Amino acid sequence: MTYDTLLVLDTIEDRLSTQSRELITFAAAIGCGDNSRTLLFLPGNNVEAVGRALAEETGLAIVICRHEQLVYPNPDLLRLLIQETMAEFAPKLVCFLHTMRNCQTASALAVAIGASSITAVESFIADEHGMTFQRSIANGKLRQNVRPTTTTTIVTVLVGAFSLPDKAPSGRGLTGQLYRRNYPHIASSCMPLEVCRETESGARLEDADVVIAAGRGIGRQEKLPLLKDLASLFPNAAVGASRPVCDRKWLPFSHQVGVTGKTIAPRLYMACGISGSPQHLAGIKGAHCIVAINTDPHAVIFSVADYIVIDDLNAFLPLLAHKYRERFDHE
Ligand SMILES: Cc1cc2nc3c(=O)[nH]c(=O)nc-3n(C[C@H](O)[C@H](O)[C@H](O)COP(=O)(O)OP(=O)(O)OC[C@H]3O[C@@H](n4cnc5c(N)ncnc54)[C@H](O)[C@@H]3O)c2cc1C
Repeated sequence: MTYDTLLVLDTIEDRLSTQSRELITFAAAIGCGDNSRTLLFLPGNNVEAVGRALAEETGLAIVICRHEQLVYPNPDLLRLLIQETMAEFAPKLVCFLHTMRNCQTASALAVAIGASSITAVESFIADEHGMTFQRSIANGKLRQNVRPTTTTTIVTVLVGAFSLPDKAPSGRGLTGQLYRRNYPHIASSCMPLEVCRETESGARLEDADVVIAAGRGIGRQEKLPLLKDLASLFPNAAVGASRPVCDRKWLPFSHQVGVTGKTIAPRLYMACGISGSPQHLAGIKGAHCIVAINTDPHAVIFSVADYIVIDDLNAFLPLLAHKYRERFDHE
């Protein structure tokens, strides 16, 4: 059996990343709804139950690729296992989400098999010449159209460019075919020893539904509790930051949003004291609703915001938290 498109899903500790599902939306868009040509690649040590549920939910075929060293992300091992899978199912398009670890796997894979590698894809054009992928360059100021010149193409798809479906994609009552593959003999040239977790509570930035983000306008680190307090009111919320906040070590780099930080797609993004540089905005293109709080009525962030608040965040944030608690009885 062969498939046109292979979608590489992200797992960690055998849990599927929610954002990985955006690849399914992407594949449905480029395949014009023909799901029968799409194969999901699900890596992990024990992902059988996840795979079965996904096959039932989506109706898509899935390769459950088992390896005991896949509990934690291992870009090198992943690349080797994807190559095995490609040799068997012969996809012409391999898609990853555009995350740091996937960029490593995707580019190594492209080099290993001599395929085109097109990263941070935001959209595409399908015409009589084939597929052209669109991406932003020059820190989001320019748009570039890229057409692959090889038979096989590797793409990484920008997080949030193809949103999660509101409801689970319909498998039309069909359960997708499951392929179980086990490659214990394949060894990686490096091995992740441990994963250190941040001690802070709250959702992971990439998975959060609500992100309250701090910019230089917060003035000093001692103001962060204002944002953390607000975040604590929402389920699945996290605190993000612009680069100056991370450069000053007010928050760890893992909180940075933007071209050199994370690309996120929360349902609500609240930018507090952030001016709206192209480098920052590149990270929130997928946000569904943007609320910006800024003292400067001409702040660029207002041009992309759904709701603008021209006010001092020191006055506005406590008031908002207070009103929210009053209304929803969170105290
Ligand atoms: C190669 C490169 C990569 C970069 N990558 C990133 C990246 O990934 N992410 C990123 O964020 N930046 C990145 N930058 C930096 C980027 O260019 C901007 O400098 C940065 O985004 C500005 O951060 P800011 O909006 O927090 O600060 P500023 O631009 O200084 O804006 C602060 C804002 O706060 C407002 N303000 C001040 N006081 C208050 C108050 N009391 N209440 C409300 N509002 C207030 C001000 O009016 C102002 O609009 C990158 C730059 C380069 C060159």
